[in-house]
Amino acid sequence: MFKAYKYRIYPTNSQKELIAKHIGSARFVYNLALETKNTAYLGSKTNFSCFDLIKQLPDLKKECPWLKEVNSQSIQQAIINMDIAFKQFFKGGGFPKFKRKTSGGSYPIPQNVMVDTNTSELIIPKFKKKGIKINLHREIMGEIKSATISVTPTGKYFASILVDTNTDAPTKASINEQTTIGLDLGIKDFAITSDGEVFDNPKHLREAMDRLKFVQRKYSKHKGKRTKKRLAQLHEKVANKRKDFLHKLSTQLIRENQTICLETLAVKNMVKNHNLAQAISDASWSTFVSMLEYKADWHGNNILRIGTFAPSSKTCSCCGKLNKELELKDREWTCGGCGTVHDRDINAAVNIKSFALKKIFSGTERKNQEELPTLVGVLTPEAQPIASGVGGSFTDVLPS
Ligand SMILES: [Zn+2]
Repeated sequence: MFKAYKYRIYPTNSQKELIAKHIGSARFVYNLALETKNTAYLGSKTNFSCFDLIKQLPDLKKECPWLKEVNSQSIQQAIINMDIAFKQFFKGGGFPKFKRKTSGGSYPIPQNVMVDTNTSELIIPKFKKKGIKINLHREIMGEIKSATISVTPTGKYFASILVDTNTDAPTKASINEQTTIGLDLGIKDFAITSDGEVFDNPKHLREAMDRLKFVQRKYSKHKGKRTKKRLAQLHEKVANKRKDFLHKLSTQLIRENQTICLETLAVKNMVKNHNLAQAISDASWSTFVSMLEYKADWHGNNILRIGTFAPSSKTCSCCGKLNKELELKDREWTCGGCGTVHDRDINAAVNIKSFALKKIFSGTERKNQEELPTLVGVLTPEAQPIASGVGGSFTDVLPS
């Protein structure tokens, strides 16, 4: 089983420079690989595989000699990550985005990561002369596999270290109605369960978000240096508070319920509007779902997903009648079929639970419970054309 640990690191100035070079190179290669893949696909319907793109790296290094200064595995991994983003797109995620040059950033180190516990140093490729000071606030349990080095816009450095605990994940619990909840992730409240429990963003997080909104507005009017710094600090504060809240809530829900049913997040993306609060909720939802998923694996719980096509908000959870007129602003509604008065979000959560369970128990008698969570909720089959490796290359799309 894999587990990730995150530690603050304290690089020297020259190490900071080398980290910046790695982040820049990884971003450059990621974007170039994405562009190459797009161009080849649009031009000749060729779908480059990850391997096709990695094969071109030696040629690219001749064009861009500065790429030789960084760990070659890190830039290979950048291509692999771009490919993973593409595969997620084929599974119903968003189209991979180009990485913008920002004040923060990160880069991957897929292997050869070591931690010297005696000197508290992180030892990674291209940083061989001297390790990077690391604050090992808790012991690393397991075999180190890979790491990601990141820097925040406020200039703090971190290493996320992935380890293999060399233990098997616990067997999944059996699925039954009593120990299952449906969860609706909302805009007004953060999450609502099919039992009618409502979890809102905590007050301190909402306050920090309000302050962030205020400073954001101020910054968009007068782009001052101090306001920019303040904005970065507030973003970090909100991100930390939010993460803390998401960790607490996901742990609580996993402890209390053997099975949690969710809607695939693409549903939420369809109703997206582009304000700040919305952007923050969007980011929170996907982080929250991934937390639920890995914590479910640790504890042997199940996460069941229902697809985009089940109208969980508009269906009456009592009689099944569809209310086509229901709009996003309607918080409460009365069913035209059976007369039940519904709270919009609780009704949706109840439906999510029953759709997910119906999917499990109807027709297909799957005996192996362990397979269930991966079988449900797949949006579209991965329909990738076979790579042929002709036409288009990194050098074709290289910015001059
Ligand atoms: Zn009804």
